[in-house]
Amino acid sequence: MLPKRLREQPLPAHLQSELVALTTNHGGEVISVASPLIDEPLGTVPAGTTDDVDEAFRRARVAQRAWAERSLADRTAVFDAFHSLVYRHRDVLADIVQLETGKDRTAAFDEVLDVLNNARYYARNAATFLAEKRRPGALPLLTRAREQRIPVGVVGQISPWNYPLSLAISDAIPALIAGNAVVAKPDSKTPFSCLVVKQLLVEAGLPADVFQVVTGSGQKVGGAIAERCDYLMFTGSTATGKKLGRTVGERLIGYSAELGGKNAMIVAPDVDVQKHARTMAIACFSNAGQLCVSIERIYVHTDIYDDFLHAFTHSTESLTLGKGLNWDYDMGSLIDDTQLKRVQTYVDDAVAKGARVVTGGTPRPDVGPLHFAPTVLADLPADANLREEEVFGPVVYVQRVGSVDEAIDLANALPYGLNASVFASPHTAWEIARRVEAGSATINDGYAATWGSMATPLGGVKESGMGRRHGRDGMTKYTEVKNIAQQRIVSMRGPHAMPKRLYGPLMTSALALSKRLRLLP
Ligand code: NAD
Repeated sequence: MLPKRLREQPLPAHLQSELVALTTNHGGEVISVASPLIDEPLGTVPAGTTDDVDEAFRRARVAQRAWAERSLADRTAVFDAFHSLVYRHRDVLADIVQLETGKDRTAAFDEVLDVLNNARYYARNAATFLAEKRRPGALPLLTRAREQRIPVGVVGQISPWNYPLSLAISDAIPALIAGNAVVAKPDSKTPFSCLVVKQLLVEAGLPADVFQVVTGSGQKVGGAIAERCDYLMFTGSTATGKKLGRTVGERLIGYSAELGGKNAMIVAPDVDVQKHARTMAIACFSNAGQLCVSIERIYVHTDIYDDFLHAFTHSTESLTLGKGLNWDYDMGSLIDDTQLKRVQTYVDDAVAKGARVVTGGTPRPDVGPLHFAPTVLADLPADANLREEEVFGPVVYVQRVGSVDEAIDLANALPYGLNASVFASPHTAWEIARRVEAGSATINDGYAATWGSMATPLGGVKESGMGRRHGRDGMTKYTEVKNIAQQRIVSMRGPHAMPKRLYGPLMTSALALSKRLRLLP
């Protein structure tokens, strides 16, 4: 039973034990889960072993067969019920996310909205995406062909800490509705968001063994999942994504990798910077910049550079910092000390090499122990580490460019290609968006417009990933395609009595005629 709201204190003992009971782990060592909002640990979860992962797959494989045999209507009904439960428990879900991450309430609520979006979208569209399709056969009238979608089996899911609720389930929803089971490993910093999702899934009617959660270390538990699953859904850093890519490559299984980015914003000269300045700041500093699609570099046309910098700095400085389970501030905490040090190190390196701090640049211990001021850097030297590397914190640099073409070239120059943001008049903006090398290009906004457009597949190009979430692709990737064809009336080789030498001329004439009459695709 979930409480209505939580407070800034460790999770209540009964809730902790209910949630831990939902893991597949067998006790043993535990991992202490810290909270940026309180001094004591939020709770503990088991540190999983390879045996736990074995057990999760054993159970998931048995459960998956029965789950896949249930009608699609039955499976989608579970996710309609899940949608209602997430909606009903939205406040406590946002509380758990905030307690685990220290993020602001808007960012926590974005996670709730994302889960609702995915549950609704895939429950509503699964029948279309998974329907058996009639396809043109090899020979018109004589061959009937069908395309069938079969669940791959057990999907492994490894997720990071920055969006622990939405990344625990949004990608798993289409996998589950398609008839798969899932073995999930949340990040050890944020396991409770994933476990509370499991609680709601079970309450919604999902057989408990269909969604297994094994808590524990990335290398041990995550590695073991990659060694056993039939498809791997990974969200995290490019470095880990490449490692896992080697494992799944060796095993020849499907892989979706949603990885890091160094997302660029392009500001063209025909933009009203006053009007968009706050949206631009939100594009960089939402969730304190700990967001894969947020902006870390801005290329601004020289004609409006000064106006832009003035308006953007003002908006950045207007962002309020805060902590706690309330709506009263714009930007929350970083997740932990490692993250704080990482951000400070990047800023110090840039400044030591000659970058100018336009605003921010330091921690904000007056707000909280892990808060860092939203930071704008200018005059960035070529050798600053953050020029090309992802900070994953509230730091952006601004660079003057002589033309839109130069901005596009700079945006495309890095190995990453996750998201780009474009501020320009509509005609110019769509033109720029078509030319940037990124899996998404968001116009007049940072990332929310593309992320929230559920019907369009989303993901990264180049070193930002492979595979897509959302849209039809976000579901069909979890299926194998079976091609079933029936030959009728006469064999593909012609009538038995036909002399063999007629086969070639007959078939080529049949294909030529089919082409002329457009009987074949
Ligand atoms: P990370 O790769 O270190 O960890 C992500 C997950 O992988 C965690 O659950 C971790 O325990 C696990 N893991 C770590 N090493 C592993 C290994 N050797 N084998 C198997 N699993 C392993 O990522 P992070 O630094 O914690 O997360 C931030 C990164 O994630 C950033 O680069 C960010 O851009 C990226 N990210 C991408 C998206 C996206 O949708 N593209 C979304 C969120 C975060």
